[in-house]
Amino acid sequence: MIEQIKSSGMLKRNRLYERSPWRLLLAGGLGLALLYVLLPYGLTASALYVLATLAAAVTVTVAVYREKQLFCSLAWKLIAMALVLAAIGHGIWYWLDLVGLEPFPSAADIFYLAIYPLFMMALWLLGKRKNTDDSTLSDALIIGISAGVLGWALLIEPYVNAPDITLLQLLVSTAYPVADLILLPMILHLVFLQRTRITAHTLLLAGMLAYLAADMLYAHGNSAGWYGPGGFTDGLWLVAYSLFVAAVWHPSSSEVPTSHASTARLSSQRLFILGTASVFVPALILLTVGTEIGVVRVAAFASILLFLLIMHRMAGLIRETQHQAERLERLSRMDPLTGASNRRDLEYQLKREVARAERLGTTLCLAFLDLDYFKDFNDTYGHPAGDALLQNLVDAWQSDLRPTDMLARIGGEEFVIIFPDTDIEQCQKAVERLRKLIPRGQTCSAGLAVFAPGETADELINRADRALYLAKNTGRDRVVRADDGPSLNRAAQKG
Ligand code: GH3
Ligand code: MG
Ligand code: MG
Repeated sequence: MIEQIKSSGMLKRNRLYERSPWRLLLAGGLGLALLYVLLPYGLTASALYVLATLAAAVTVTVAVYREKQLFCSLAWKLIAMALVLAAIGHGIWYWLDLVGLEPFPSAADIFYLAIYPLFMMALWLLGKRKNTDDSTLSDALIIGISAGVLGWALLIEPYVNAPDITLLQLLVSTAYPVADLILLPMILHLVFLQRTRITAHTLLLAGMLAYLAADMLYAHGNSAGWYGPGGFTDGLWLVAYSLFVAAVWHPSSSEVPTSHASTARLSSQRLFILGTASVFVPALILLTVGTEIGVVRVAAFASILLFLLIMHRMAGLIRETQHQAERLERLSRMDPLTGASNRRDLEYQLKREVARAERLGTTLCLAFLDLDYFKDFNDTYGHPAGDALLQNLVDAWQSDLRPTDMLARIGGEEFVIIFPDTDIEQCQKAVERLRKLIPRGQTCSAGLAVFAPGETADELINRADRALYLAKNTGRDRVVRADDGPSLNRAAQKG
């Protein structure tokens, strides 16, 4: 039945994959990008470019309104808006360029720059998760900062030092790489966050990276003088838009991403990337010292940030390790079925209590309990019912016992309870109470022993065990005191 449901679900999904035109849209977009690069630069190519961008905006919008289940549709709406802005910006830019006016800086830049906050918001919305720590963000920042320093050295520094540049040109031309440098860690954050790869997100992130790459090429081409419109660089932006379109039309765009509950773990691959990224910046200082004082300053500042981030990352790892150690420690003392203490914990606690009673002269009692005919219960009601009984019994006993008493399950249906600062009368009363709390009318036998100065923990347990043996042999469903012997047994027969 489940198999049937599963396979019909898969069939439905497969059909959806076949029906979704994302491959066709991607191929169409890439085709247009190629056509644009191949066409000689001019009115036709520019018109094609603007229309292709507009088409991408429309296609994304259609997907947002068509697919009701879209994960985080606001993010995709922002991307559609960004594409509209891009189309307007391109329209202005090409028009200025074609009529022979200087297109930089111009009104087009206002539209272009407005794209970045939209992208940032979209990425932030897609990456917003509950239950994650901030280690992915640290990792993204570590790599982002290193890449940023490289970007600064190659793309921003040349502008700052260019002699014939106006202040407006300087501001506008540095705004792009700066925006890119903010986007990069956000993209990486999303990449690191993904546990199950969602193709839609992978396509979107690939699109974002293509967009950044085009920005970088453009900035470098402009400062180095090789950029011209109509070429590969502009084509790359169209590739980015096509990837956005493919992403939102991909059926997986409705999947809700699951992220790592704790990403504090560090794979060796990630460690290598982080190591390279953080070593790179001080290396850049070494390489440029004496020649590029601006770069050295930025790199030195970035190094400080990197160190702080790495310290932060380390602190997170140490915290995580400590938590794990504490969890393991707790588990190693616990009986997995009932959550009571196990034999190991009992031995540890009993030694301490014996030492305490010995030193302070306080009374200490021990009860050894064993369910009667529990095998029959299992045979009648089944093992799972037996398990449930043991769990309910421990819950009931735990809430009846004092916080200073300690209940341990040391075998299948065998329990030991330590009663510190308790005399034998109180101990017996407590055990009688516990016997009434056993679910489903089951009974148990118990042996009690009071600590005698000078004896060891093992000897104390053995005496209680022998009393229990006696209780079993004299009819079960009773309590026997070790020292008093069977004749003075004050067992209360149940029922
Ligand atoms: P007695 O009165 O002599 O103690 O009889 P008994 O049947 O309780 O004792 P015996 O030692 O013959 O069998 C213990 C039974 O406890 C065997 C097994 O069916 C049951 N048992 C032990 N551990 C578990 C457990 O973890 N879960 C369940 N459901 N049953 C368990
Ligand atoms: Mg038993
Ligand atoms: Mg037993």
